[in-house]
Amino acid sequence: MITFDKVTKLYQRGAHPALDDVSIDVERGEFVFLVGPSGSGKSTMLSLILAEERPTSGHVHVLGKDLSKVSQRRVPLLRRQIGAVFQDFRLLGDKNAYENVMLALQVIGAPRHRIKTEVPEVIEMVGLEGKEKRYMTELSGGERQRVAIARAMVNRPQVLLADEPTGNLDLETGMSIMRLLDRINRSGTTVVMATHDQSIVNQLRKRVVELKDGMVVRDEARGVYGGEK
Ligand code: ADP
Ligand code: ADP
Repeated sequence: MITFDKVTKLYQRGAHPALDDVSIDVERGEFVFLVGPSGSGKSTMLSLILAEERPTSGHVHVLGKDLSKVSQRRVPLLRRQIGAVFQDFRLLGDKNAYENVMLALQVIGAPRHRIKTEVPEVIEMVGLEGKEKRYMTELSGGERQRVAIARAMVNRPQVLLADEPTGNLDLETGMSIMRLLDRINRSGTTVVMATHDQSIVNQLRKRVVELKDGMVVRDEARGVYGGEK
């Protein structure tokens, strides 16, 4: 589903590489935590999967395609199959929850009948039914992240990328978001999540890929991250 083949990423000539000869495979249906300190290269991996950045050397394959062979023109088509959520939600403050989700379908030209059935379905899936008309300032942090997840999932992507999705939430709210991501994964979506939240990684016991200075230093099934073993 996702392959990094000897990927090196240098943002600036002469700088320390953000990624240094990284090779990993993520299979369809996996749940992978990318862990490591700030600056270790987690977000860079997610940007390469989204084709927001290109490797300096090596190849990234996503959904069977070598991204170096996907033209800029076709990048948006590929991105439709990848959902993404972020620590800061990236929602539109002047739209309500329903509209924020609906926009993801409108921008790809989805017909109205699809919008009318699929937006309510995904809002229910994330547990926000009854809150469709709330603006972002009227929702808690956990609820805003649910809106962001609904927006990412409304296209039914095969892959969901999450960059520190619990970073702005307290532990209990973060765990409720993790239960939602786990449910999304169990229903067939491959999930790759960057985090440095040790308690979440240690409670979920998923595959853990640890980065340090742009290198993969550990790759464990049902792994932990720091603290208790
Ligand atoms: P993490 O997500 O683990 O915090 P990043 O992938 O954001 O790590 O960063 C890895 C390294 O690449 C850091 O040294 C960071 O400063 C650098 N970096 C990230 N993005 C850019 C950019 N757009 N331009 C220059 N350097 C960058
Ligand atoms: P969560 O733990 O899911 O993040 P909270 O405990 O923060 O939720 O919020 C509980 C309830 O309070 C939610 O149903 C939410 O709709 C409501 N709420 C939270 N913040 C606001 C706000 N700024 N304006 C209106 N309602 C809010």
